[in-house]
Amino acid sequence: MHCQICSSNELIHVTSLGHHALPDVFVAPQEAAEPFTVYPLDLYVCGRCWLAQIGHAVDPALLFRDFVYTTESNPASRPHFQRLVDSLVERFQLGTEDLAVDLASNDGTLLEQYAGRVRVLGVDPSSTTGLAIAKGLPTIVDFFTEATAEKILATYQPAKVITTMNAFAHIKELDAFMSGVVTLLAEDGVFVTESHHLQNVITKMHYDLIHHEHLRFYSLQPLTVLFARYGLEVFDVEETATQGGSILVYAGRTGVRPVSANVPRLLEQETAAGLYSIDTYQAWTARLMQSKQRLMSLLYGLKAQGATIAGIGASAKGNTILNYCGIRPDVLDYITDGSELKQGKLAPGSLIPVTADQELLDRQPDYALVLTSNLKDIIIRKLTEKGYQGKFIVAGEVPSVE
Ligand SMILES: [Zn+2]
Repeated sequence: MHCQICSSNELIHVTSLGHHALPDVFVAPQEAAEPFTVYPLDLYVCGRCWLAQIGHAVDPALLFRDFVYTTESNPASRPHFQRLVDSLVERFQLGTEDLAVDLASNDGTLLEQYAGRVRVLGVDPSSTTGLAIAKGLPTIVDFFTEATAEKILATYQPAKVITTMNAFAHIKELDAFMSGVVTLLAEDGVFVTESHHLQNVITKMHYDLIHHEHLRFYSLQPLTVLFARYGLEVFDVEETATQGGSILVYAGRTGVRPVSANVPRLLEQETAAGLYSIDTYQAWTARLMQSKQRLMSLLYGLKAQGATIAGIGASAKGNTILNYCGIRPDVLDYITDGSELKQGKLAPGSLIPVTADQELLDRQPDYALVLTSNLKDIIIRKLTEKGYQGKFIVAGEVPSVE
């Protein structure tokens, strides 16, 4: 096994979260007795470039075939992209002749924000692109590689801005993707990525971010190694609130732009947080197991007292918690989720029934287990306003009852 960025074979096994079913493959009730495939979910860290990564990459065609996530389903996306695009247009002085390309453009929510100020183009292999095309946003429905970049250059000039938001950790063929980026990027172009930040996985125990769609957990040092291989360097970085804590990384061709003080500052912060020391990962594994033991003691204790418990949110993150902790229908009666594509089906691996949000209000279980801890405040406020009267359990490092 080799590091996904630096190809070294010095991968250190951090922990195993067990074997998991694919997070977007929901099961029809009549198929509940059928066998299903599970894949190993193990976290490694590279001893050379310090990239945290999972060990087994599932075939993307299998993983994203039933991809049901749309950007606009997250209410935080649109205002966040609006601010980002406004800042890109102003900071890099983009004009109507300039090209902005969004890779993994999904339903086109980011490209919409340019609103005629620049030429736009999206690239994405998933069926969610149908929504972008319906909005009139030019979109290539394909994986992005050097060949895709060359095809674009036959029609368009090189891109002044290339964005990849919350998808840069999903890409299996990273070298093909990066070759495409450097082919398509203008000499003074900017490549902007936003990804969940490893520091939060480690310090805030956001282990639910570990699932088969996330192949890598970025911090700045390994990204620097990756970009250097393609003649790029990170010239600025910001921490954002996306997904409970992300990094927005600005890269350009080496030497073209001055490097902001934000770059060494974040590297120092990451070093102080222990991201570049193996001791941190060993301690993290022990903390991870303790968090599971605490959550299961709490849940089994409540069940033994006759409590009813429902889950909130059948997301990929929630499925990691369910399948790592071994939570099954004997603990959670059902999970509520807003997506009609999931309702009436069984959650992957755990086979817990998924119902509409209304079910929680109608049945009023004693407890509601919040399965997306990074959205807990929004979820608790919303469900309380709607009339849920029970208590909330939040599955953090130390599970809390609120
Ligand atoms: Zn490495």
